[in-house]
Amino acid sequence: MKPLQMVDLKSQYLRIKPQIDSAIQGVIDSCQFVKGAEVKAFEQELAQYLNVKHVVACGNGTDALQVALMALDLKPGDEVITTDFTFIATVEVIALLGLKPVLVDVDRETFNIDIQEIEKAVTPRTKAIVPVHLFGQCANMEAIMEIAAKHNLYVVEDTAQALGAEYRFSNGSTKKAGTIGNIGCTSFFPSKNLGCYGDGGALFTNDDALAEQIRSLTNHGMKVRYHHDQIGVNSRLDTIQAAILRVKLPHLDEYNRARRTAAEKYNTALSEISDIEIPATAAFTNHIFHQYTLKVKNGRRDALKRHLDEQGIPNMVYYPIPLHQQKAFAPYMTENDNFPISEAISGEVLSLPMHTELEDEQIERITTAVKAFFVSVEQV
Ligand SMILES: *Cc1c(COP(=O)(O)O)cnc(C)c1O
Repeated sequence: MKPLQMVDLKSQYLRIKPQIDSAIQGVIDSCQFVKGAEVKAFEQELAQYLNVKHVVACGNGTDALQVALMALDLKPGDEVITTDFTFIATVEVIALLGLKPVLVDVDRETFNIDIQEIEKAVTPRTKAIVPVHLFGQCANMEAIMEIAAKHNLYVVEDTAQALGAEYRFSNGSTKKAGTIGNIGCTSFFPSKNLGCYGDGGALFTNDDALAEQIRSLTNHGMKVRYHHDQIGVNSRLDTIQAAILRVKLPHLDEYNRARRTAAEKYNTALSEISDIEIPATAAFTNHIFHQYTLKVKNGRRDALKRHLDEQGIPNMVYYPIPLHQQKAFAPYMTENDNFPISEAISGEVLSLPMHTELEDEQIERITTAVKAFFVSVEQV
């Protein structure tokens, strides 16, 4: 029996080992460790996959978000609306740039930003919305773009958990997550749906001027070598990572399908348990299951977690503390802030192992352990 892991990067690597090894060796042989043809080729291939005009690779997903906000003409104190329930990186960069993060509550079913709450949070100082496509399904982009158009706001999509997910507009047309707002950002952290073997990230846009601005910002604010037009950063994708990503990108759809298949098997096995809510998918998106996240009701999440820990079943709580309760964001909070949903779900969420290599026998072991817990609590 293969050991259970939240993410099994080793088995995935072994399937493509010859191609990966030769891609890495190729970069070493070329000694083009930074920039070079591989990075350019990867940017073009990802742009083609996403059907977007420009992709600019960078050092990691957090940098991508930071550079996206730097590329927009925002001033200190400008307000940026984002979700209270996400990984810290999304909100960190807003604060780091001297902008004001305005957190809003989420939709209980999808864990994604609540559209009504965005409307309520808009003020004359609001300049941008940063929706996160959390756990692998798209936020309600059509509604978000409408609010943005109405109030003249930028939209920066955090696509770190949803690369390859597809949004369906009400007219039936579709676009890839991250290609709908002004700028999309993603991460190639190893455990993401398209992961490299270290850190990596990228920005996407259909706007030529923004693309040029982003490219300059990631390269010390220069367009012509040693002519620095603005304060930038140093954020680039290593050539070795680009070469690895070029091998993996053609597998991304198959990887996302494997995640969905595993999720369907979990759903079938767990849907009958009355204290569990299996993940819901909104009608306007597909779900590529970066995480498979249950809601465990009636205060039983922590006991279930302890049971799984004892049984050696990997599991994680994404995320145990909503951002508005984090010490780092206390200065941004006010008396009137109200986040009933993110507070409730942070006590209910439990993510099970999710990756591209889950075998039926593993899913069986995991779901049997979950079911055993509820059988035992029914008896007391
Ligand atoms: C992973 C992640 C990031 C940050 O990406 P890094 O490459 O780790 O910097 C940002 N936002 C979300 C939602 C993420 O999951």
